Amino acid sequence: MRPLFFSRLLDFFFPLLCGVCGGEDFFSLKIGLCKRCTYAAKTSKPAYRCNKCSSPLALPFSVCGFCDSRNIFFTKVFSLRDRNDLLGELLNKLKSNNEYPVSIFLSLGIRKVLRELNTLDLDACILLPSYSKNRIFNSDLKPFSPSSRLYEETKRILKIPLIDPLMKTSAERQAGKSFSERFFHAYSAWEIKPNWKDRCPSKILLLDDVFTTGASVNEASRILKKNGTESVYVLTYLRVSD
Ligand SMILES: [Zn+2]
Ligand SMILES: [Zn+2]
Repeated sequence: MRPLFFSRLLDFFFPLLCGVCGGEDFFSLKIGLCKRCTYAAKTSKPAYRCNKCSSPLALPFSVCGFCDSRNIFFTKVFSLRDRNDLLGELLNKLKSNNEYPVSIFLSLGIRKVLRELNTLDLDACILLPSYSKNRIFNSDLKPFSPSSRLYEETKRILKIPLIDPLMKTSAERQAGKSFSERFFHAYSAWEIKPNWKDRCPSKILLLDDVFTTGASVNEASRILKKNGTESVYVLTYLRVSD
């Protein structure tokens, strides 16, 4: 049996096996998922999207009902894919054990989006912390962010610094809460760190693993705007679209 460290090291440099079924082919070598699983992960392209959150729309409205019905503080959301069952499963894999092939696959298409974001002259990016089960049971574990690959690519292409002006006031997880609970909860979930008060950069990119209700992202944006930020863009691997 290979020691875990070496096996992780090998996985890192040679992502040979499919992140879903463990099979190996040309696709898995290149993008972390085999050909069959790549096709299974495909989502159909919607005809229209919301101008704010990019969720699919059946009719050519400019914004979706969600963005139209409340105060939205973020400027625009960019998600690499619409979530489906298999993609949701992949994201859970990434969250539970940081599987490298999975992060390659989930980041496909990111360069194109980052090149578009590059024209916006962004000042800094923020990784929204997410809470993994492991960390809740063992607080000594290093905080692991499933979005770290989003950040690596962002740093490489946009060359903007990572800043950390927000702190969570509650470690309660968003998962398992109802839609309205999430909104209520998010309202008090963040605080600005004292050294960033009233001096947040003008254009910020928020990185998060998935855009679900938008509650956390919206609340983080609200606090940033209260403290000097003018526009907040959001980049996630997945967007929940149903
Ligand atoms: Zn596969
Ligand atoms: Zn929307």
